[in-house]
Amino acid sequence: MKIEAEYLYAAPGRAPGATGMAIHTDGDTIAAIAPELGGHGLLAMPALANAHDHCRGLHHIAFGAKDQNFELWRAALYAQPPIDPYLNAALAFGRLAQAGVGSVTHVYSSTRVDRLADDAEAIARAARDVGIRLGFAVPLRDRQTLGYGNDADLLALHDERDRAVIGDTWLPPFPGPDVYMQLVAEIARRIEGPTTSVHLGPNSPQACSDALLETVADMSAREGRRITTHLLETSLQREWADATYPQGFVRHLCELGIICERFTGAHGVWLRPDDIALLAERKAQIAVNVSSNLRLRSGLAPVAHFISAQMPFCFGVDSFAFDDDEDALRELRIAQWMFSPHDTRAPLTPELLFRGWHENGYYSVNNRSGYGRLEAGAPVDIVVLDYEAMAFDVIEGMIDPLDVVLTRATARHVKSLHVAGREIVRDGRVLGVDLPAIEREVIAQSRAHAGHMRRLRPVLERSQQTLKSFYQSGGHRSGRVS
Ligand SMILES: [Zn+2]
Repeated sequence: MKIEAEYLYAAPGRAPGATGMAIHTDGDTIAAIAPELGGHGLLAMPALANAHDHCRGLHHIAFGAKDQNFELWRAALYAQPPIDPYLNAALAFGRLAQAGVGSVTHVYSSTRVDRLADDAEAIARAARDVGIRLGFAVPLRDRQTLGYGNDADLLALHDERDRAVIGDTWLPPFPGPDVYMQLVAEIARRIEGPTTSVHLGPNSPQACSDALLETVADMSAREGRRITTHLLETSLQREWADATYPQGFVRHLCELGIICERFTGAHGVWLRPDDIALLAERKAQIAVNVSSNLRLRSGLAPVAHFISAQMPFCFGVDSFAFDDDEDALRELRIAQWMFSPHDTRAPLTPELLFRGWHENGYYSVNNRSGYGRLEAGAPVDIVVLDYEAMAFDVIEGMIDPLDVVLTRATARHVKSLHVAGREIVRDGRVLGVDLPAIEREVIAQSRAHAGHMRRLRPVLERSQQTLKSFYQSGGHRSGRVS
């Protein structure tokens, strides 16, 4: 196969673009890149890697979970309707592919351990059908499911009428660490392959006992498996962590062994310089989710500190793209605007921006380093953009085409996407599945539960009030490890 481009950015941010090039492929690998006339108006670069997402085809607002502070938003997930996991994931994967994403980490959030292996199989099949590379994070948790406190205490604070449904939704009996590790091994056996890998996915350190985190650290070290979790996303989590681990929360996690080069923590908005130094020392990564942090009122990640400490970081969409679509190209531009002011101590340069979306992100999703330069021997993971549409009014020779990408690129400019040698998007259309039909089916399945969801609405609103008072009164600062 041959992919032609008028502008080729083989390593955007690190090497200048070339004009009039053809990429010759051999299966899933680039065979050669040579000058050739053709590909008029097209711009090619490595496909993006989205290192943190929940791959929810049905957007949160559809079932009443409006944007607000994370802890209250989360309580609205009660009403999340049961949708076929294949369809829900395929819809998200397809939209991400349409936005130039070739690799994604799917942080699956189900608490239904009994269904997990079957769900994982369906989700992996959806990724294969769409053609996207998948890191599947197996959800692990065994404490603090209702909030940052003891579950029984928190349940008792809720309205008596609601306790049964809350218990059923959030508090199934959680397995012990060994049973969880058997489940990870079983899922790996069922889904791992050339484009799919399985991560250990502790939901967040506050939701996992030390015993569980230690077991995760051991398995990761033994098998080289990646660890994907959430880390210090909100100010309330920071307050909980400071009250519970006065000797240092991140230091405690280091002692448990989970902070290592295989670790990716999402968000890290409330990390302090001493935490960042510990992460940097161990080459652990943070996945920055800019729009998610805006929409859930979490704040802005201290990216300048990440850069100064030379801590690796990548980016994620987190099912919370700026316009509630899955537009990773817009996310890339927003990160550039947020973190590159020249008066910050260490501005985000295009080199670091693309290192996050390419090299670091790919390593985080696929556990393989060295990605991010189109050259002989590199994987055929390539996004081709409609530069002519982006640059419709641009005077040729006045600007580097990459600056036009950083100013205007959105999913609608994605002409084609190639992943592992296969063309998976052409002219903006996903080739492997019928995405519009899947979207219609997902909406139909969710609306079929409308009556049930409407009956739950007062439950979740009361729960949000309960949680609000709990946090306002400082219940999360008890200092007890629950
Ligand atoms: Zn997340």
